[in-house]
Amino acid sequence: MKILVVEDEQRVAQFIQKGLKEEGHAVDCAYDGEEGGFLAEVNEYDLIILDLMLPKKNGLTVCSEIRERGVSTPVLMLTARDAVQDKVRGLDAGADDYLTKPFVFDELLARVRALLRRGSESKAPILKIIDLELDPMSRRVTRGGKPIRLTTKEYALLEYMMRNPDRVLSRTRIGEHVWDMNFDPESNVIDVYVSHLRNKVDKGFDVSLIHTLRGQGYMLTEDAPPA
Ligand code: CA
Repeated sequence: MKILVVEDEQRVAQFIQKGLKEEGHAVDCAYDGEEGGFLAEVNEYDLIILDLMLPKKNGLTVCSEIRERGVSTPVLMLTARDAVQDKVRGLDAGADDYLTKPFVFDELLARVRALLRRGSESKAPILKIIDLELDPMSRRVTRGGKPIRLTTKEYALLEYMMRNPDRVLSRTRIGEHVWDMNFDPESNVIDVYVSHLRNKVDKGFDVSLIHTLRGQGYMLTEDAPPA
């Protein structure tokens, strides 16, 4: 497999490169964000290992820029701190996994294997409702061909709704599928997320896809929902 390592600490970059080469991978290294982003766009990699703190352009920017340009290669983000905020930002920027530095090489390898396996699975079909498209592999969402940037949770909610079109989805059901079993259906979290999603997916388009069914829940449909 062909892997790009974007890491400004040469010692760390070489350590990763050497280890991955020993595993039989082809490895390119870039030492700043600009070079990394450039290589990620012009070459086809199976995986990108991307440091968060980089000169010229940080890892988050690199990641969201290559996603915007349609690069769907899995990204493993390296974060220096064990800060939850960094991880959330990384995932929101389109990273697929993250690893906190310092790490044991075996752990890096395990993540690499998991991501490569995921990437080589047969392509999941793109979900489509009129001009709204969601690609489960790249997690890319577009409407009318224009990319829509969603947070991880917004994406999960939209994917669930697109997999269940024309059906009444109660808050309880949405909570169970998109949040977790401890989700409190009395909270207004779902309504807040649906409203964010609406702003991104429906606002400015002639046809609204996300509908509220008073007292019942929500429905994603291209037809007018039952009153
Ligand atoms: Ca760094």
